[in-house]
Amino acid sequence: MSTLVITDLRANVLTEDGPKEILKGVNLTIKPGEIHAIMGPNGSGKSTLAYAIAGHPKYEITSGSVTLDGVELSELSVDERAKAGLYLAMQYPVEVPGVSVSNFLRTAKTALDGEAPKVRTWVKDVEKALANLQLDKSFAARSVNEGFSGGEKKRHEIAQLQLLNPKAAILDETDSGLDIDALKVVAEGVNQYAAAGDKAVALITHYTRILRYIEPTYVHVFVGGQIVESGGKELGEKLEAEGYEQYVSAIANA
Ligand code: ADP
Ligand code: MG
Ligand code: MG
Repeated sequence: MSTLVITDLRANVLTEDGPKEILKGVNLTIKPGEIHAIMGPNGSGKSTLAYAIAGHPKYEITSGSVTLDGVELSELSVDERAKAGLYLAMQYPVEVPGVSVSNFLRTAKTALDGEAPKVRTWVKDVEKALANLQLDKSFAARSVNEGFSGGEKKRHEIAQLQLLNPKAAILDETDSGLDIDALKVVAEGVNQYAAAGDKAVALITHYTRILRYIEPTYVHVFVGGQIVESGGKELGEKLEAEGYEQYVSAIANA
């Protein structure tokens, strides 16, 4: 089972001018089999939420907690959080020059499982994940994210998601910069992962269009470092029509 519980989470981004509070008390519970869309305007702190949960060194949790199946993540290293079952697909995936996709995936899988995957099944699994994301076989030999198009970066993040098969996934703007065909492929890749039925998925996005292809269990509006409204997928439709303006001004006037 995979339950992600975020309680009163406050976090700072560490800037050159010192720490700056971005997350101002986030509460969210994602139960097994649920997909939660977290939607908000630029600069509202969505990526900060993702990075704080994943343990990025530029972000510090100042109070509150994040647990995955009862394990407190905030006290763990990045690697330990991944071992506990957390995966973050980053908004801006980083380049790893000189490391092939194939070696990168194998190293990640080995680190997570504590033993190397069996060569025969692993090669097939990699081919399948790449095919699912409509990436050519030759893609496995390329350096991670080096010279990848925006779409290839996102497809690779989701191929990785399928192979590592974590309990919980935070997908940060996995839809951004994709044309409609790539969006469908990436959405289908996420749906294939989530089809196991016991995953906790947070789908962070700026736009509602991905929700046409990935059906969220709940939709949350994220503004000013907080969830300000929650609802079903009809809330996504309302945002599509009305935008975030009313929520932004409500915060500004509070
Ligand atoms: P979102 O993902 O919703 O667009 P972010 O989490 O990226 O929002 O950013 C939240 C806020 O934190 C923004 O106001 C942004 O300017 C600020 N921020 C993020 N990183 C830094 C940084 N390194 N230095 C200063 N401010 C930062
Ligand atoms: Mg942004
Ligand atoms: Mg962001």
